[in-house]
Amino acid sequence: MPDKPATQEYPAIWLQGAGCSGCSVSVLNAVSPTIGQLILDEAAPGKHVSLRFHPTVMAATGRLAVEIMLGTEAGDEPFLLVLEGSVPTTISEIAGSGPDGKELDFTEHFVELAKKAMAVVAIGDCAAFGGIPASGPNLAGCKSAREVMAEHGIATPLINLGGCPPHPDWFMQTVATVLLYGLPDASALDADLRPKWFYGALIHEHCPRRPDFDAGKFATAFGEPGCMYELGCKGPYTYADCPRRKFNGGVNWCIDAGSPCHGCAETEFPNLGPGLYRKIDAGSLPRIELTADGTLAPVVPGPYGSTEGA
Ligand code: SF4
Ligand code: SF4
Repeated sequence: MPDKPATQEYPAIWLQGAGCSGCSVSVLNAVSPTIGQLILDEAAPGKHVSLRFHPTVMAATGRLAVEIMLGTEAGDEPFLLVLEGSVPTTISEIAGSGPDGKELDFTEHFVELAKKAMAVVAIGDCAAFGGIPASGPNLAGCKSAREVMAEHGIATPLINLGGCPPHPDWFMQTVATVLLYGLPDASALDADLRPKWFYGALIHEHCPRRPDFDAGKFATAFGEPGCMYELGCKGPYTYADCPRRKFNGGVNWCIDAGSPCHGCAETEFPNLGPGLYRKIDAGSLPRIELTADGTLAPVVPGPYGSTEGA
């Protein structure tokens, strides 16, 4: 019987900046593949992710854990850098102790790792777009991975996975795709560097309450049937596949559970439009318009309040 080909190992370093660890919890609850399949088995045939550093789940602590991370950073193996939480640029000395006993500055360390990584995956809205920590008053100077990388001239490929938290499939399938086929080219990502295969359509396009929206049947209180536009639903502005994918192994998702979409996968979250539970501007809703040549064409909003990206 021929020998099984050797499994290729891909080291990963997972940093946690300013965030709540909810993205880690989401990924730990992944259904297919499971987190065990990702880090103990093969994430894709013949490909194994060696999670060398993760503050929540690693067994090692303190200086030993940091030394493993620094060893990966200094080695020759290409590694994947995952950032959870935004980068707190005005607070230093929070990344743990280095081998010399000195505390590591989080921003400096993120920058050094991002320079050497094969790719950076910014998981969750805080890492991808600043999210809640950067929403104000932002005393910690929280910034997204993209902002910090741009300020330091870092050209390492970056993939943003918006969501608060993101669906675990968005992370698992992104990692598996990178291992199997390499880094996605620019055409596979949208203008905010999100994979189009997860963030390619508006929530509003596939919402089961869309017939109510089109018929003008709106809920005026929580628990009522009807479209939740009047209750502040951000589905008309939010690009994500939640209606089709659903959470917890396809069991349910926000709107089926009776909550408006908060736009948690979007760049402006949590300040999308007038705020949570506040109705968005009717003038910016998706609509059909008469074009100059006399044909009807759909106008779909891109970033809040504009038609960019339509
Ligand atoms: S506004 Fe919200 S609840 Fe109404 S159809 Fe659009 S996504 Fe669904
Ligand atoms: S439906 Fe909206 S609020 Fe809910 S997870 Fe999806 S993007 Fe976030």
